[in-house]
Amino acid sequence: MRRTRAFIPTTKEAPSDATLVSHIYLSRAGFISQVASGLYSYMPLAKRVIKKIEKVINEEMARAGAQEVELSFVTPADLWRESGRIEKFGKELLRFHDRKENLFVLGPTHEEMMVDLVRNRITSYKQLPLNLYQIKTKFRDEARPRFGLMRGREFIMKDGYSFHSSYEDMDREFDAMEAAYKRILTRLGLDFRIVEADSGAIGGTGSKELMVLANSGEDTIAVCDSCEYGANVEAAKRSGRSHIPQAPEAEFNKFKTPDVKSIEDLENFFKVSGYYTIKCVAKRAVYEDGSEIVLFFIRGCDNLQEKKAQNAAGALDLVDVGEEELRELGLVPGFIGPLDQTKAKHVIDNDLRDATAMICGANEVDYHYVGVGMSVLSEAYYADIAEVNEGDICPYCNGKLSFTKGIEVGHIFKLGTTYSAALKAEFLDENGKAQPFVMGTYGMGVSRLVAAIIEQHHDDAGCIWTKEAAPYAVNILVSNIKEEAQTALAEELYAELLAQNVEVIYDDRKERFGFKMNDAELIGFPYTIIIGKELENGVVEIYERKTKTKQAVAKEAILAKITELLAL
Ligand code: ATP
Ligand code: MG
Repeated sequence: MRRTRAFIPTTKEAPSDATLVSHIYLSRAGFISQVASGLYSYMPLAKRVIKKIEKVINEEMARAGAQEVELSFVTPADLWRESGRIEKFGKELLRFHDRKENLFVLGPTHEEMMVDLVRNRITSYKQLPLNLYQIKTKFRDEARPRFGLMRGREFIMKDGYSFHSSYEDMDREFDAMEAAYKRILTRLGLDFRIVEADSGAIGGTGSKELMVLANSGEDTIAVCDSCEYGANVEAAKRSGRSHIPQAPEAEFNKFKTPDVKSIEDLENFFKVSGYYTIKCVAKRAVYEDGSEIVLFFIRGCDNLQEKKAQNAAGALDLVDVGEEELRELGLVPGFIGPLDQTKAKHVIDNDLRDATAMICGANEVDYHYVGVGMSVLSEAYYADIAEVNEGDICPYCNGKLSFTKGIEVGHIFKLGTTYSAALKAEFLDENGKAQPFVMGTYGMGVSRLVAAIIEQHHDDAGCIWTKEAAPYAVNILVSNIKEEAQTALAEELYAELLAQNVEVIYDDRKERFGFKMNDAELIGFPYTIIIGKELENGVVEIYERKTKTKQAVAKEAILAKITELLAL
């Protein structure tokens, strides 16, 4: 591509709402253009990057025996009714009627559509397993679209679905997909971690997320300092704590505690660690058919993990509640404890099971109980609802957990029969008995990957594309376009590289060297061949974006050198 013909509108201005470097650089370097909230147009450079990512995905899927299909983006609402997800997805589904008043949904994911494609076509265990995927635009009317391509409303996803006659076979395919995803991210030059994930309301027996490590990541992941364990904090477990404070000694008693409301107040008042206090977090749990107040009890030194809490309550969502709503139930805000006599539903953290010497609200203004033994509540509903803390002990070894930030670029999921059973998609097993397909589902955020690569690979000057993802591998930059010898060599190299199928762009603009170089830095081509003054001595320079280093190369050796660098 000749730069004079290319549509690469670079600019100094970043969008006013852009906070993430990927959003800023991809906009400034002329990759993407925002159309409306969460909607972006891909300009030529972005399109090239997306195609390169797709190529890597397609190659690895082919290697793993998955087949590409393409399902319609517009999906009949009836399918979403059949699976019951029309309510669950709520406002993220964009619905509309056609001219015949039929209701449709813009596909946010395609489980229903894929099951519908396969049902009644695959009818025998002999035709299984089957793994189908597509790379396709998705639409989710996200509540808070943000961060450019990171969380769009319209975005590109690779979504794959596998069908099996047994759980064992699904497990095998799940492992194969995990390995394929690993290869994809490795080839794209990303530093990532595969972590245990929350399997959410859809259920399923296991799910893992692929996290690109970056400080700007929206997800917090807990990683072990000594073994391979890593998990999204939404799902992270611990086997214990590195330190358990000395227990206070007290008989069961009610204590006057004027104005002592927060955990910190309690710690100061009783000179006791938050570990021996009980914190109550009240939420309104929203269900498909209504809502109710749920009281979540955890140790004072812990924080409620909302995703775990939501799963434990079996709720679609948890929303904050006002003090007035609590009073209406007979609760006393600031002094709520698990020994209350109200009808409010309780969920108590597993770590409080059989706890002794606890201090908790007495459900009376200005009173707390001390010396509480939780065994009196043995019938209560216990669940894992607390967030692990840094320093807690790994569930698999004696290592300690620490936190790091990640960008979720992929999610693989053992679905089981959730959708096949709901949509009555069945096959005949070896005994001629009809069974629902056992399924796995494998998602990867293609457009999010474009942003994730930049979040991990950039510097103050702009993007630093990894080789497998770069829009162009080589940029030819002529320092002075008026020098005939320089342009002649550039033309020659350009033709030669094109002939060798190297992805090359030739900056033939009549601009100053510094201007063109800044542009190249911002866009982030892996290599720039700089043809300048030294050509008089038969020498040109190869500039490597990643290391910001130049090496002088004899003009005759340039092709060989570039080929060698690209092959590395
Ligand atoms: P998130 O927790 O970030 O909302 P999700 O759990 O809703 O993600 P999945 O339904 O598992 O995501 O979708 C598969 C993949 O699609 C994700 O791993 C992510 O990479 C990508 N993805 C999901 N939502 C978006 C979005 N709004 N914009 C861009 N990519 C997205
Ligand atoms: Mg989401």
